[in-house]
Amino acid sequence: SIMPATLSAISNGARNGILFKGGVHLENLAAVQAIAFDKTGTLTKGNPSVTDIYVKEGYKKETVLLYAASIENHSNHPLAKAIVESAAATIQKPLLALANVQNSSGWGVTANIDGVEWKIGKADFVGASEAKSFHASIYDQLSLEGKTVVFIATNDEIIACIGLKDIVRKETQAAIQLLKDYQIHTLMLTGDSEKTAHAIAKESIVHEYIAECLPEQKVDHIKALKNRYGIVAMVGDGINDAPALATAQVGIAMGGGTDVALETADIVLMKNDLPKIAEAIKLSKRMNRIVK
Ligand code: ADP
Ligand code: MG
Repeated sequence: SIMPATLSAISNGARNGILFKGGVHLENLAAVQAIAFDKTGTLTKGNPSVTDIYVKEGYKKETVLLYAASIENHSNHPLAKAIVESAAATIQKPLLALANVQNSSGWGVTANIDGVEWKIGKADFVGASEAKSFHASIYDQLSLEGKTVVFIATNDEIIACIGLKDIVRKETQAAIQLLKDYQIHTLMLTGDSEKTAHAIAKESIVHEYIAECLPEQKVDHIKALKNRYGIVAMVGDGINDAPALATAQVGIAMGGGTDVALETADIVLMKNDLPKIAEAIKLSKRMNRIVK
């Protein structure tokens, strides 16, 4: 049977936009030593927009963007949505109707158009060394600004790169500071590149970050954190994050996240309000004092 103090803490949480799926999560949260955060959609707002487009000599920006958007129209990644929106806002032509677009979660998308193989995604996906030498100084500059760089290749030749900027949530810094005040170790896990991750981590004031992290590697990093710190929480919003949410003792989903994240999590932040994590910890510490 559920203790009155637990019940009271759960209903208090619910009134404050924190949904606990059971009493045990309050106990775990009171003892949490480290919290890992996904980047896109968690520390950041998760609706990036296209800020820069560079194409190889001889190519037209408009044409490349039209093809890229037509391909990305088959992905529901936030970066894909931004590319589609950018085309809709700048090009008067309708998107091409395509079949057989392939999504590679954590990497990018591929499509075959009239015998040409199109690849859109991170450097390692389109060919790392070629990608990094394509407008190398621009790549560095965009990354330093915390922008995500997506490359476009046709038949393994890089023809364009796109810079996309996502905004760190205005509450992120305050939320992390509150956790630091509790002596909790904070860390960011992201599939994005090293320099971009560095810029966003710095702005978010997390203690540590791990970049170029594939979805399955997020799980390994949570396991390592458990060995190092004991009780660990993971905060995320995406389908990609679900295995890591399940691996942490406390999985916390952003209320605006995907269904899979919401279903997997133990706690849901109903209004995407990150400072509520510290509030939930406070609530669970208080409850534990009453119960014990
Ligand atoms: P994050 O952990 O930041 O949410 P993901 O693991 O979803 O990122 O993706 C990692 C990287 O793979 C992205 O930063 C991007 O470079 C590339 N990528 C993934 N999906 C797509 C896509 N649909 N279009 C372009 N690039 C993509
Ligand atoms: Mg995310």
